Amino acid sequence: NDEETSARVAAADADTGGPTIYDKIIAKEIPSTIVYEDDKVLAFRDINPQAPVHVLVIPKSRDGLTQLGKAEKRHGEILGELLYAAKIVAEKEGIVDGFRVVINSGPTACQSVYHLHLHVLGGRQMAWPPG
Ligand code: 5GP
Repeated sequence: NDEETSARVAAADADTGGPTIYDKIIAKEIPSTIVYEDDKVLAFRDINPQAPVHVLVIPKSRDGLTQLGKAEKRHGEILGELLYAAKIVAEKEGIVDGFRVVINSGPTACQSVYHLHLHVLGGRQMAWPPG
């Protein structure tokens, strides 16, 4: 909603390249509900779900990928891994027939955590255009 969007725009962190909350999730220093994990990728439930299924898919090694807008050619392989992991998550969650994958890149898109992540959303009818 508009109020939440305004709050997020106001609170948006800059892309400093510093550590993020996801480092602690990867290190299991703060708990998360893991849906899928392999050597390169971690998928866990969003703490503030926007749909019945809302899972975040992240690279375990950020390697400069604070946001999609900073991707380089060398990131192609991990970007592919992340997208494929999103499909595995959709299958595991029983939404493979209809789901949405979102990447917010930068403050104008309301990115709030500067460690690249895919949102996998589903379990309800999606609307278009997105907000
Ligand atoms: P962004 O706004 O950057 O695209 O998405 C960041 C997402 O991370 C948000 O949907 C937010 O709810 C989620 N998030 C932030 N902190 C935590 C946390 O500590 N645990 C989990 N599971 N999700 C988080």
